Amino acid sequence: MLSAGLNIVGFSWITSPAATELEMIVLDWLAKALNLPDDFHSTGQGGGVIQGTASEAVLVVLLAARDKILRRAGKDALAKLVVYASDQTHSALQKACQIGGINPELCKLLKTDSSTNYALSPDLLHKEISDDSASGLIPFFLCATVGTTSSTAVDPLLALGKIAKSSRMWFHVDAAYAGSACICPEYRHYIDGVEEADSFNMNAHKWFLTNFDCSVLWVKDRNSLIQSLSTNPEYLKNKASQANMVIDYKDWQIPLGRRFRSLKLWMVLRLYGLEGLQNYIHNHIKLADNFEGLVAEDPRFEVVAPRIFSLVCFRLLPPQESEDHGNKLNHDLLDAVNSTGSVFITHTVLSGKFILRFAVGAPLTEERHVDAAWKILQDKASALL
Ligand SMILES: *Cc1c(COP(=O)(O)O)cnc(C)c1O
Repeated sequence: MLSAGLNIVGFSWITSPAATELEMIVLDWLAKALNLPDDFHSTGQGGGVIQGTASEAVLVVLLAARDKILRRAGKDALAKLVVYASDQTHSALQKACQIGGINPELCKLLKTDSSTNYALSPDLLHKEISDDSASGLIPFFLCATVGTTSSTAVDPLLALGKIAKSSRMWFHVDAAYAGSACICPEYRHYIDGVEEADSFNMNAHKWFLTNFDCSVLWVKDRNSLIQSLSTNPEYLKNKASQANMVIDYKDWQIPLGRRFRSLKLWMVLRLYGLEGLQNYIHNHIKLADNFEGLVAEDPRFEVVAPRIFSLVCFRLLPPQESEDHGNKLNHDLLDAVNSTGSVFITHTVLSGKFILRFAVGAPLTEERHVDAAWKILQDKASALL
């Protein structure tokens, strides 16, 4: 309410020094909470910036990476640029490629399966890059995900980062959902290898108690962003900017105007504190863990992917010898459960199987809600079977 009511329009530093300075400070705090390498702090060549969404975050870094490689390889190289990610990567990457003029066939979404729990295989990536380089293409961008949308798969950042480095590619890490959990020491290892990344993104508006919108992006080399996105019209000129003494976040993003979003994050960090936020995450993961236990105890169901954070992927097993009906059965179960109006669960498809997804992520969710949801699932399953 404060952020909206103050109506700050902080596009360049001079229009609201506080909005810019607080954003730098708060994102440095959060970078420390996540134990990101110092290169991502605003005190060096990098820094954090609040974008509206993860989609905008991946777009701006893709543009920065594209222009960086084109400065080296020449403008005509655009049609040869290749982007890599797993087939579990959020469609925001494809959209960024569309906007960025990348040949759609060269946005390579490498196949994953249950053998790696739907994580991107470094060996497969290495082979693709070698083949593409040999045929004259230019690998330039790798997007890894920590906590994929379908099943919260975690790509192995350390191994992928090494490959990106040796191929001189931009390495972006999309941790839109699961990044929040990495403020907890026991989950921080999921982003081990972020040291190798050029950019890292997490949505504070997903699982970090911050109202929409607040998507946090850190980069190691802010100049790459600025070189792609800055403009300098007469009507925005001012002493502070021209003396190069300040950050003008307009050059790190697509729009010019920007809200005072760091105030929301500042409020959350000051109100809950790091420990409060860690407890918040722990509690959700514990609730999801409870739910997973309930599913595992019922022989009519199976958990279909490892539960890592607060999402449980599961399905009702079809009666014997009728695997074909499994998808319809689970589709019907989803509809039956959601039509009660008491609970809302979502679905995905993994390895051709229709899967139900139970996510804990709302501040008011308690154990009794999880138990009640499970009861509804069991009742509807019995009726269907
Ligand atoms: C939610 C999500 C996105 C898209 O988020 P927006 O902020 O709505 O663009 C992208 N990637 C992952 C991994 C997500 O969880």
